[in-house]
Amino acid sequence: MTVDTFPAPTSARVLFGAGLRHTARDEVRRLGCRRALILSTPAQSDSALALAEVLGDDAAGVFSGAAMHTPVPISEAAVAHMREVAADCVVAIGGGSTTGLGKAIAYRTGFPQIVIPTTYAGSEATPTLGQTEGGVKTTLSDPRVQPEVILYDPELITSLPVGMTVTSALNAIAHAAEALYAPNRTATSDALALEGMRAFARSLEVVIAAPDGVAAREDTLRGAYACGAVLGLVGMSLHHKLCHTLGGAFDLPHADTHAIMLPHAIGYNARTVPDLLAPICEIFGGETPGTALYDYATRLNAPKALRKLGVAEVQLDHAAHLATRKPYPNPAPITRDGIRTLLQAAWEGARPQV
Ligand code: NAD
Repeated sequence: MTVDTFPAPTSARVLFGAGLRHTARDEVRRLGCRRALILSTPAQSDSALALAEVLGDDAAGVFSGAAMHTPVPISEAAVAHMREVAADCVVAIGGGSTTGLGKAIAYRTGFPQIVIPTTYAGSEATPTLGQTEGGVKTTLSDPRVQPEVILYDPELITSLPVGMTVTSALNAIAHAAEALYAPNRTATSDALALEGMRAFARSLEVVIAAPDGVAAREDTLRGAYACGAVLGLVGMSLHHKLCHTLGGAFDLPHADTHAIMLPHAIGYNARTVPDLLAPICEIFGGETPGTALYDYATRLNAPKALRKLGVAEVQLDHAAHLATRKPYPNPAPITRDGIRTLLQAAWEGARPQV
């Protein structure tokens, strides 16, 4: 078990190590708490129940209702349940959806959070919360939202199916790739972005070849933390905007959308800021940043076409309209024609030109 080796970008206590989940009770007490509400999705309720065993008397209950995009009614139900069982902290075990529920509870109650991540989404490393209500997604940033403790236990991510391992990793890499040209980037954010991408370049293919390999899984979790931390430090641009827009408009799976869009968004910006994006070619191998990421995704057998997610070609005009109606910082100028062309290539799954 080792303490985080990266520059500490957040105030969180960040630990990596196989079997770390077994220390959850100590972490609850370290926070001065005695009654933890354990959170998960319905699909991971077994993991939540196993964690309740670990916590023993310090488990106040299990709430396995976490869902994608943090619906407000679910967060409110969880807060009500938390009050009923007199819980004083949350332990979230799962991916970004479960972490999101823990953050939503912390935002509403001020209770501390322990997160045990089981995907590479990286939400645990940010003070950001995205929530949906009445079909509208809003995002806020607040210190209460930043989890106090993150326990990266690689044994828990061995169950992540290979397909989701790939898309979730590309979701993490997307945070780091866009950080390279963020208007508010710093030496720390650059270092974290490069370290995060290098960890995946080094270990993701090892994980895919042997998904139960704990050492390579731990290295990819270190990559996820670095990529998540960088997401919490700097602003995101075109890629995240497109994924947010497409995901919201067409109810697309989060990680798959990131995996498909990344080479195209980076390719779109590569002509304008080739020097800032050059590390992507060095890390993943390739002549240009967009093609390097596309070829990497191909080697990983990642999904590459929006049409395979059920998006109809006739919807692309509307998507281009939604993605260009409000200005936001981006290295290359955002034009409706440019984004429409990008979306067409992503819909077809074509290789970007740069
Ligand atoms: P997810 O949490 O929705 O998980 C997808 C599915 O995989 C769920 O059914 C989950 O139970 C299952 N799963 C997770 N880990 C597993 C494992 N190890 N083994 C087997 N099954 C497992 O997906 P995600 O991509 O991690 O998170 C997406 C959500 O996170 C989105 O709502 C996104 O907006 C949010 N997010 C937020 C931030 C932020 O900073 N606020 C950052 C990244 C993502």
